[in-house]
Amino acid sequence: MTNVILLGPPGAGKGTQAKTLSERTSLTHVASGDLFRAALREGTELGMLAKSYMDRGELVPNEVVIRMILERIAQPDCGAGVIFDGFPRTREQATALEAAMGEHHNQIDAVLYLRVPRDVLLRRIAGRQTCKTCGATYNIYYFPSHRPGICDACRGKLYQRSDDSIETAEHRLDVYFEQTMPLIEYYQRQELLHEIDGQREISLVTEAMLHALKINPELTAPPKE
Ligand code: AMP
Repeated sequence: MTNVILLGPPGAGKGTQAKTLSERTSLTHVASGDLFRAALREGTELGMLAKSYMDRGELVPNEVVIRMILERIAQPDCGAGVIFDGFPRTREQATALEAAMGEHHNQIDAVLYLRVPRDVLLRRIAGRQTCKTCGATYNIYYFPSHRPGICDACRGKLYQRSDDSIETAEHRLDVYFEQTMPLIEYYQRQELLHEIDGQREISLVTEAMLHALKINPELTAPPKE
């Protein structure tokens, strides 16, 4: 079993890479932001609560996120290992995850840190479009869909996340640098951190991640069309 954390600022490509990695390995993609957006679509109390923080670019309180993630990873589909995307984002979340895993004789095996400079991040976030139906992501500057506003994979409608506006994105980056960056050093000290240049082409970043995880790209399933 392998458990991997994808660490990096908003716009670094965590979601895109986690999706591909989960398709090419037996690991299950668990994204805290996606879970909140799903809860919001379902109109649950958790969704409404999270929205009030997400819209401002603030972090949802630790205890709420921790409970949600621990419930999620207790599901049977997480038994073969997990790719954490967007969690942990604070020191408290990291220690809670470690403690919960330890209780099940489980552990974090690797932390992949996607490094991307701030000016690139802003452009990536502001240009990001997500499919309402399948969750695929595009970027109007770097990776546009073939038909504007329509998903290449499933023909669903593309939308811009409300927290991807420039103002909110700026604030999300500030929050990241203040609250999440310290985790880089934290995992470095535990000798779990692998730094990956997140500015390169998407497929090269994927190969670098598989390499860091010592997974031979040729042995994994090819990317699904
Ligand atoms: P993301 O999709 O990862 O960019 O997350 C979108 C938003 O969800 C963040 O800006 C936060 O408001 C909230 N969120 C997601 N993950 C966490 C987390 N681990 N801790 C606190 N808030 C989170």
